[in-house]
Amino acid sequence: MTQALKVYNSLSRDKEVFEPINEGHVGMYVCGPTVYSDVHLGNCRTFVSFDVIYRYLTYLGYKVRYVRNITDVGHLLDDGEDRMLKGTKREKLSPMEVAQKYTNGFHDMMRTFNSLPPSIEPRATGHIIEQIEMIQSIIDNGYGYEKNGSVYFDTLKFAEEKKVYGKLSGRVIEDLMAESRSDLKNQGEKKHPSDFALWMKASPEHIMRWNSPWSVGFPGWHLECSAMSTKYLGKTFDIHGGGNDLKFPHHENEVAQSVGACNCQPARYWLHTNMLLMNGRKMSKSDGNTISPPQLFSGDSPHVSKGYSPMVIRFFMLQSHYRSTLDLTDDALQAAEKGYRRLMEASRTVQAMEPAAGAKAGPLDAEINQLIDQAFEEMSDDFNTPKAMARLFELVTRVNGMKDGHLPKNEVSDETLARLKSTFEGLIFQVLGLKDEMAAGDNGTNLVDGLMDIIIDLRKDARSSKDWATSDKIRDMLGDLEVQLKDGKEGTTWVKN
Ligand code: AMP
Ligand code: ZN
Repeated sequence: MTQALKVYNSLSRDKEVFEPINEGHVGMYVCGPTVYSDVHLGNCRTFVSFDVIYRYLTYLGYKVRYVRNITDVGHLLDDGEDRMLKGTKREKLSPMEVAQKYTNGFHDMMRTFNSLPPSIEPRATGHIIEQIEMIQSIIDNGYGYEKNGSVYFDTLKFAEEKKVYGKLSGRVIEDLMAESRSDLKNQGEKKHPSDFALWMKASPEHIMRWNSPWSVGFPGWHLECSAMSTKYLGKTFDIHGGGNDLKFPHHENEVAQSVGACNCQPARYWLHTNMLLMNGRKMSKSDGNTISPPQLFSGDSPHVSKGYSPMVIRFFMLQSHYRSTLDLTDDALQAAEKGYRRLMEASRTVQAMEPAAGAKAGPLDAEINQLIDQAFEEMSDDFNTPKAMARLFELVTRVNGMKDGHLPKNEVSDETLARLKSTFEGLIFQVLGLKDEMAAGDNGTNLVDGLMDIIIDLRKDARSSKDWATSDKIRDMLGDLEVQLKDGKEGTTWVKN
């Protein structure tokens, strides 16, 4: 690799050279979905972005342990209601049924977008003991206090002593201090409004509840990620990711919990994805500015003129950098569809290319090598997929200039052709995670093979009923496509000339 991998670290607000804690290994934790309703496109954007990051790190040769949790304990919504409980009421199912149903839906959607499963996918409800232990450490260190069976994190004491509260999100702690002096009343059980719950005593109607030293209750939202990342990746690990809407309070409080429990920063690099917009505005259910993945696939929405396949949508997502907002519009999707098809076509052309006899390197050879280097340099520059794809398209232009598998003599060496093939395969399919929808069916079978089986079968039927006109027509039409049928003892096979 010509260039070291650089990542933008939200903690330092700077691009930094990536240096893993253990050489050759990467520990990465990404906040997973809350499984109380269908996964939306914004979630998909974030998880597709981290899928590419996971894939690229793996491609670079790192052994990556990718942990992405399932949040199946409720978070409180703005209206004070628990998200999981909201789901159980709506659907008349038990909490674990709701969690399972939407976990299954989430997995299906991730597969549809060709995202790889994480190495470990822990659930919050399976890690209550670890969360209780962490709360105890925070209390023992003086940063947690109990009130009426609930436990809160003492943000002011922590901020004064540790000087890290607010560093990740850029929140100014002085503002919080001023608030505390002027507003000591009406804070309920908390000492300060910015204190957050580590453990909540369950009200009688709350169904998800566990025993703890403080009360029968449930853990606070931020705790599960601290407990599970520590359990599977260690007290300090390499990368922590999520959407930038989680920076505050979720990630800020994760940092506080780790520092409070063990005096250690949880992650060295914090990576945050930007939000998905539609027609320039935040996607929002309340004002109708929203589209679900199935609506986008089928085209059944006033926001699109037609349906778009999952791979076109994935391609579209990768055309902007993960730290930029992504604006979904029908025009942009149409352009992405054209681009995706052009890239797949070029990739098929490249894979079919044969070295020319006696090929030597010429000017085109140098150009191709330079573009390949640049494409990888872009990926190593904070996973810049749009710029890497722009280099790929410059390669596509070169490829289309030498189409039909006839390489110009004295232009491209065998070595460069092999590198071009492996770059197309590696970058497009392994790193960007695209699939050629024309070549492979969703069940992994080759679509062309399947279609040819059908055609051969139809021809066999025609011949057995002595319908020579149809069987000849099939043979001739395939011949026009340079597909030749060969009848043998074992049946009929086909070759593309
Ligand atoms: P949630 O299920 O709400 O906890 O969200 C799961 C992940 O999706 C988190 O990392 C969020 O930051 C991310 N996310 C939520 N909304 C959007 C959006 N509109 N665009 C991009 N990512 C989002
Ligand atoms: Zn989290």
